[in-house]
Amino acid sequence: MNLCDFAPEYIRSIQPYQPGKPISELARELGLNEAYIIKLASNENPLGASPIALDAMINTLHDIALYPDGSGFELKAALSKRYDVAPEQIVLGNGSNDVLDLAARVFLKPGAAAVYSQHAFAVYPLVTQLIGANGIAVPARDYGHDLPAMLDAITPETRIVFIASPNNPTGTLSGEEELLQFMERVSRDVLVVMDEAYYEYLPEASKPDSLKWLKQFPNLLITRTFSKVYGLAGVRVGFGLTHPDVANLMNRVRQPFNVSSIGLVGALAALRDAEFVQRSYALNRAGMMQLTDGFRKLGVEYIPSYGNFISFRVKGAAANTPKVYQRLLQQGIIVRPLGIYEMPHHLRVTIGLEAQNTRFLDSLEPILGELD
Ligand SMILES: *Cc1c(COP(=O)(O)O)cnc(C)c1O
Repeated sequence: MNLCDFAPEYIRSIQPYQPGKPISELARELGLNEAYIIKLASNENPLGASPIALDAMINTLHDIALYPDGSGFELKAALSKRYDVAPEQIVLGNGSNDVLDLAARVFLKPGAAAVYSQHAFAVYPLVTQLIGANGIAVPARDYGHDLPAMLDAITPETRIVFIASPNNPTGTLSGEEELLQFMERVSRDVLVVMDEAYYEYLPEASKPDSLKWLKQFPNLLITRTFSKVYGLAGVRVGFGLTHPDVANLMNRVRQPFNVSSIGLVGALAALRDAEFVQRSYALNRAGMMQLTDGFRKLGVEYIPSYGNFISFRVKGAAANTPKVYQRLLQQGIIVRPLGIYEMPHHLRVTIGLEAQNTRFLDSLEPILGELD
């Protein structure tokens, strides 16, 4: 036996997460200039980060020899005020992916199960599998979560249900009423993780009042992130809001310094820059119109999205999809193939700056013309 053969089967069979292709990698592969490449592959904020957050992070560099505040006192105080929860209800994470992982490590074990939707965020099956627990993928309905079917899929072994709303990569939103009904019906012995990474991109009228449910349901964990509208994907800060008892367990499991000092300071400043959030939201709404108008003109089918991205269908055989992906790469445009999401006909494009969206659409048109 080789050492690696002793690793559990559920570890050896993990399919690694496939991130969007980095700009530097494409530049190397095709000999392109990095400045020419646009990455619309990871739902990053095309405006970058808030200038206020940038300044705060640059100032923190002077103290980089010191460990961060492992409790995240100041950031938690600000989040507590903003969201009207006690600091004891907050779990900070190295990105919200870390929070998802903590939830899995607290509540799952081999033999336990987690329920999630088909076409849902790839991190749910990943964190489930690395515990050796069973993942139950429930068939989607019109690319969205079929919440009644997910409720039915819960077994006595199920400890977590993951719900992404809006979901990535489909952009679908579960209705407030439907979510509330789910919470009312689901057993209190099951943790419901509501992943709201794209919450800030929702128009006010579409925002569910999910924070309010924390008072009513001790088995709810809401996760949010600084990676999307706040433009801080590179520093890795996310958080979970939940019942203090759940937060307590998750905080025992996390690494003592799981959020860096730069991340803590950047997130705190970003939270205060409402103008930047508003500008990012408005840019996204305009870009969403621009892309969906463009798709309609090109006769491209797309899944209406509530996020900062949109998944569109490449006509014809599934083999056309990697072709379009590759042809876009050659033009210096990186989008995301969705094969691992069981969507072999779709590509996902992140909404960029107006000029980037234009270049994407202008490049796409002749490429689609080449297909049979
Ligand atoms: C981007 C994204 C996240 C956020 O990940 P971070 O670890 O916070 O960068 C979480 N959930 C979904 C569905 C996402 O698309």
